[in-house]
Amino acid sequence: MSQTIIVSPRTKIKLKDYDAGYSGGYKRKSEVKNQIAKIQKQISELQELLYAESKHALLIILQAMDAGGKDGTIRHMMSGVNPQGCEVTTFKVPSAEEVAHDFLWRIHKAVPPKGKIGIFNRSHYEDVLVVRVHNLVPKEVWCARYDQINSFEKILVENGIVILKFFRHISKSEQKKRLESRLKDPAKNWKFSEADVQERKYWDDYMEAYEDAINKCSTEWAPWYIIPANKKWYRDLVVGETIVKTMKDLDMKYPELKKEPNKIKIE
Ligand code: AMP
Ligand code: MG
Repeated sequence: MSQTIIVSPRTKIKLKDYDAGYSGGYKRKSEVKNQIAKIQKQISELQELLYAESKHALLIILQAMDAGGKDGTIRHMMSGVNPQGCEVTTFKVPSAEEVAHDFLWRIHKAVPPKGKIGIFNRSHYEDVLVVRVHNLVPKEVWCARYDQINSFEKILVENGIVILKFFRHISKSEQKKRLESRLKDPAKNWKFSEADVQERKYWDDYMEAYEDAINKCSTEWAPWYIIPANKKWYRDLVVGETIVKTMKDLDMKYPELKKEPNKIKIE
């Protein structure tokens, strides 16, 4: 089983080659607890620097099958971040107004400004996933979208937006377990949706659609990461580490004062 998580451009991955249960040799959550706490602190400090410098924005795109844990990661990784420095946007079935526009209209409006971290819970990729699986538009329309997405993301990157795209890879049996636990646990009942049970019937179609989205849209400027996500703590660790590394690589600096601080007199 492959353990590589960053998808190189022009490679053709098959999701069945990636073990959703992989956990980097760790056996339990307690082994990574300290690392996760350190990462949360680092993300918080790096976000402050991102804001101070205001040259870049970080756009984190989260895609997963239902119960793949998009909300959990947002909660865990961003827990230390100043709420003013982070914007989360959840993309649901488009409204009448959104459908009347091009598919990127609602997406572009939600892209974070420089200095901020933006998190997309679902994204423009739904327009080549659910839309493709359920034939919501003709094939030639969704087929053309891969190139359109690559061009759109390139424009963002050329304008200072750093893009991270995470596919949280859970196995079909893990999804069953999670959906069942939503039924069993009264505190989780609210998360249960019959629609998720219906969508599960299209699992193979979704896997194919995800493979195409990842293969066609993992670019030099905006690569896809496949995150083994059966173990929630490992998933959060890998996502967190990737965020920290990406932000550190920006080599950000606090802006300097125009005058020497000791030459400024405060009356
Ligand atoms: P949830 O995330 O469970 O609240 O569900 C949101 C629903 O919106 C999912 O079933 C998505 O597939 C659906 N959705 C998101 N974006 C689109 C889109 N562009 N076209 C159609 N359905 C979408
Ligand atoms: Mg759902």
